[in-house]
This record gives sequence, C-alpha cells and structure tokens, in this order.
Amino acid sequence: MAHVRAAPLDALKKLGPRSSSMVTPPPAEPLEIPVPTTTDLGAEISTLDVIHGIDHSEGPGAALRTARLRAADFRHEFAQTGKPTAVSTHDLVTLPYPTKFGLWRAPASPTPFLFITNRLVIVRWTDSDGQQRILLWEPSDAELDANTPYFASISRGIPERVQNLAVKRYATVIERVREAGIDPADVDYLAFDHLHTQDVRRLIGTTRPQADISPDFPVEAAFPNARLVVQRHELVAMRDLHPIQRPWYQPETFVDINPDRLLVIDGDRLLGPGVAIVRTPGHATGNQTLVLNTDSGVWALSENVIATECLTPELSKIPGVSSWAKHWGQEIVLNANTIESTATQYNFCILEKTLVDRSATDERFLQFFPTSELTSSVLSPGTAPTFTHGSIRHGI
Ligand SMILES: [Zn+2]
Repeated sequence: MAHVRAAPLDALKKLGPRSSSMVTPPPAEPLEIPVPTTTDLGAEISTLDVIHGIDHSEGPGAALRTARLRAADFRHEFAQTGKPTAVSTHDLVTLPYPTKFGLWRAPASPTPFLFITNRLVIVRWTDSDGQQRILLWEPSDAELDANTPYFASISRGIPERVQNLAVKRYATVIERVREAGIDPADVDYLAFDHLHTQDVRRLIGTTRPQADISPDFPVEAAFPNARLVVQRHELVAMRDLHPIQRPWYQPETFVDINPDRLLVIDGDRLLGPGVAIVRTPGHATGNQTLVLNTDSGVWALSENVIATECLTPELSKIPGVSSWAKHWGQEIVLNANTIESTATQYNFCILEKTLVDRSATDERFLQFFPTSELTSSVLSPGTAPTFTHGSIRHGI
C-alpha cells in the first residue's frame, strides 16, 4: 500500500497530503499486462462465494448480512484444516501516510500524516505430499514502490535528506528472508493483499531489459523459483486503470513480467493446512486477505484497515475515532486511500472481523493483523494506536 519516500513533518505540514505536481496521464490504450490462465492452486473454498453474487445483485446492505453469516461458517470450517508449521512477521519500514486515508473521516487530530510500519509475513507449511512450502506475504520492494504516482508526486520537490528524516528502514525483504534462515531459491509463493504501489520486477524478474533498473539485460529474479499469487481481477484491472485507481498503481512495471511467474487465482483458495487466501474486494478490485490458523487461533492479515482497533472503533482511544463511529453507526474505520468501492470494502472488513479469534494479549481486541500497522510517533500527535500486535510468532 504505502511506500512513500517520506517527507519531513515540517515540510509535510506546509504541503499537506496534496499533490505538488500532476500525475502522469494514463496510456492511450490498455497495457499488455500478461493475464495467464487461472490455476487450481491448493483447494477451492466455496463458502464465501455467495457474498460476491449478492453484492452485485441485491446491493451492499444485503451482502453485509450474508458476509456475517458466511464468515462464521468459514471460520468453523477453516479451523478444521490444520495449522502451518511456522508463521513470523518482520519489520521492513516505518513511514508517513496521510491521516485522512489511514483513519478516514474519524480522527480529531489535524496532523496531516500518521505513521505505519510495513511488515513482511513468512508462512511455512507442509503439503499433503510432504513437500515443504514457503509463502512471503507483502514482500514489498520499498525502494521501487516509492515511484508510485501518488507518493512520487507528494515527495517531489522535497530534498531527499529531509524526506529520510521521517522514514525508518529496517531491512529489505531479501535480508529478512536470509535472517530467517531461508534460501531465496526455496521460496515458492509471493503474494500481496493487492497491488497498490507494488513493483515486483526485482522479485520475480522480467522477460526483457528495463530502461530504469536493468537497461542491458532482463531483470534477474531475487526469488528464482517463486511465483506471484494474484487474483485475476487485479491483473485485468491493471491493464486499464480508472482515474480513481491510477495514482496508486505502477502498471507499466508489470508488462514484461514472465507469465510463467504468475499464479493467477479467481476465488478463495486453501493453500495448505491453516493457510487460506480469500477475496476481500473493495479497497482494490482484486483485494485478498491472508487467513491463518495458529496456536492462538485464527488471524486475518490485510491492509483493509491500518489498526486492529479500526475493526472495533468503540475501543479506540485515538481522539475522535470512537465518537465518530458511534455518531454515524459505523462498525469499521476503513483504510480509505482510494475509496474505490467503499461499501464493499466495509463488508469484507466485517468478514475479516467475524472470522478471527480474540487476542491472547488483550481479549477485547481481535487477531486482525494490519500488514501496514499504525505506529506511534512523536511526529504525529493524536494518532497513537490504543493496541498493537507488533508481530505474529507461531511454530518458531
Ligand atoms: Zn492500498
């Protein structure tokens, strides 16, 4: 979602989350991004299919009711599938993000930017044939992701040394994978909850040279055997983005991706014991959520909200949040950078909220793990989270 080469607070206060220059106009024709044939990765999950049909036929209110019921059914089924062998989370970068996107209309704080920490999630499991599998969830290439039109636009004109004051970089994805004792060649799958800001060329390589990062040769893959698991709808939408979507994507960087490195799915899939990817559209067309069963119960991981308390805003001590939610009868505070399909996003946040267990640390809060998690900063008063997970550790 958010990989801004960040801006300094003083400069940001003057600038606010506005563009300092125009976003590049869209291409005249749709881009030729490869969309390979849909695969049957893992096992099909059909319990939640009906929600998507109702959203189209009867509208979001009816779909919301069904989402609650089906999520409860799915939670029961999913817990029976077993558990992965290991789950761990790894900090990549802490950076500023517009408050009006992260907490939408709820916060009282006038601070234009809050801070979020992007984390990599490593999931390991054993397939039914005894094969070890490794998934990297949210393996963002922070350096290239900073070229996303929205962030490039707001950071343009701000000296890099000043921008760096607001960003803390901890490690790259490849460094984190090696620290975890994993050979990059052993990684099977990469996946993101959606492709906002993502540039995956250095992760899975390209078929042709790339003028900006590899002018003479195709880009070599950092993960030579990994394939990107992506919803078909997300790739199709990226070929021909709507103006609402365009500031958040880098579709040109997907044109020369090798189609063999894409694992296209079209629905909800059980990847392994206690490891599922389910569709949660709304924030983005092809949005998906990672669902995990661990020793502490069921978790959902996505960027649909930026803090666990955004699924239970009545518990939030962030000024303005609980009163806003109560006044307007809202059960969710969305991560609302695109507001691409807002009611649908809300419904799938309810799905996430319904299928997870409660935190062992504080049972008032849910085991929803925002992979870009709101992080307290003295630079952003009035936005400190009431509760954070910080990490997930299972089987390690
Ligand atoms: Zn996003």
